[in-house]
Amino acid sequence: MNFDFSEAEKAFVQAVEQFLDQCDTPEVMDVTRENMAQLVDTPERRAFMSKCGERGWLGMGWPKEYGGNETEGVYEYLLNESLARRGAPQIGKGVGIVGKTLIRHGSDKLKREFLPKILRNEVQFAVGYTEPEAGSDAAAMALKATRDGDGWRLNGQKIFSTSAHFADWYWLGARTDPSNKHRGITLFLLHMDTPGLTVQPMPTIGDEITNSVYFDNVYVGDEYRVGELNKGFQYISEALDLERFTMFTFSPIEQRMEELCAYVVTEQCDGRPLREDLVIRQRIAQLVTQTEVARCLGLRFVAKASKGGAAPTTDSSQYKLYATELSKRIANAALDIGAPGTQLRVQTADAPMRGRPELTYRYTVIDTIGGGTSEVQKNIIARRKLGLPPNF
Ligand SMILES: Cc1cc2nc3c(=O)[nH]c(=O)nc-3n(C[C@H](O)[C@H](O)[C@H](O)COP(=O)(O)OP(=O)(O)OC[C@H]3O[C@@H](n4cnc5c(N)ncnc54)[C@H](O)[C@@H]3O)c2cc1C
Repeated sequence: MNFDFSEAEKAFVQAVEQFLDQCDTPEVMDVTRENMAQLVDTPERRAFMSKCGERGWLGMGWPKEYGGNETEGVYEYLLNESLARRGAPQIGKGVGIVGKTLIRHGSDKLKREFLPKILRNEVQFAVGYTEPEAGSDAAAMALKATRDGDGWRLNGQKIFSTSAHFADWYWLGARTDPSNKHRGITLFLLHMDTPGLTVQPMPTIGDEITNSVYFDNVYVGDEYRVGELNKGFQYISEALDLERFTMFTFSPIEQRMEELCAYVVTEQCDGRPLREDLVIRQRIAQLVTQTEVARCLGLRFVAKASKGGAAPTTDSSQYKLYATELSKRIANAALDIGAPGTQLRVQTADAPMRGRPELTYRYTVIDTIGGGTSEVQKNIIARRKLGLPPNF
């Protein structure tokens, strides 16, 4: 098995790194924002992402007829990993979820309207699947879409719509047939300024803002329906496989592990080097090994996904489950080993490991929930990989 990247792939990474060196300002890149660094939520971050678009790095894997370059998926993986390592915003929902689904299932009008804007980074999206009574069981979503002339009236509530407080467009699922759970959901694109839509920000344990969104007789034209009526859940499932992998990058895990190792090698506790403590040595050795396992699971997904076709579902679930749970273990270890200093917040001068452990400890809880909880990933693996009977 050869885990090396090709010369062309290495040259691409070098070009990305050079570009990132030129754009390295605190407004654009900040590893201490944890995965919130993914968001394209400020003018500086929008400008950075537009520059990525100018370089042809947005949608490079898309078909040429839609402005892409049909580049193998490994290039998007390498780009995303480089961006994550530097705490730069990442090519997220627009290219991956909205763009790829529109290419597969969208009407000509929606492709014409949105794909060029995504490539030029002229539009930011929020994704609305989750509702107060429909999280893990996304097919239970109930936001009502009722026919009204040439469009639809939306009534109900979404919850945990990240980015909705700054996004331009909303990518959401709504119930168009109450009699059929899985085949009764339709996807829509809705402008965030549409009358009747109210966005209420909610802070999370990881300092991230997410949102509740309320729909009061909100009108959406039928031309903004994505794909076929009542097939939304199928499209959402396809997109989630892509999201689970692309949103949970490996390089921040590796980076946190490197920082923890460097801390253990150089620091002392009660006059004794930490590196001589047998319990700490054992814990670090296990985590380093597990970090290598996460890398391999990620690369295996990339290798399979690069061969084309649908994203390999169980591989993306395995990677998401393993990587996010490992992130939590590394954060716990950093907080324990460096205590009490590691309880200091990021902004505190002289906090060990740049003050990251305290925020990472809180943030990594979210990673095991967003994009599908760990329990849900285990169910997917049990059913689809091991052939065990469903428990839901
Ligand atoms: C910070 C953050 C950002 C998010 N961003 C978005 C977003 O942008 N868009 C969006 O649509 N959603 C988003 N989500 C929602 C996220 O996908 C859901 O929170 C998640 O799917 C879990 O749903 P729930 O919170 O309703 O929990 P529930 O589904 O109510 O689950 C509660 C508990 O029960 C467990 N459980 C549920 N079903 C089963 C089962 N069948 N077997 C075993 N255990 C089970 C779960 O694992 C969990 O531990 C975000 C969530 C967070 C925390």
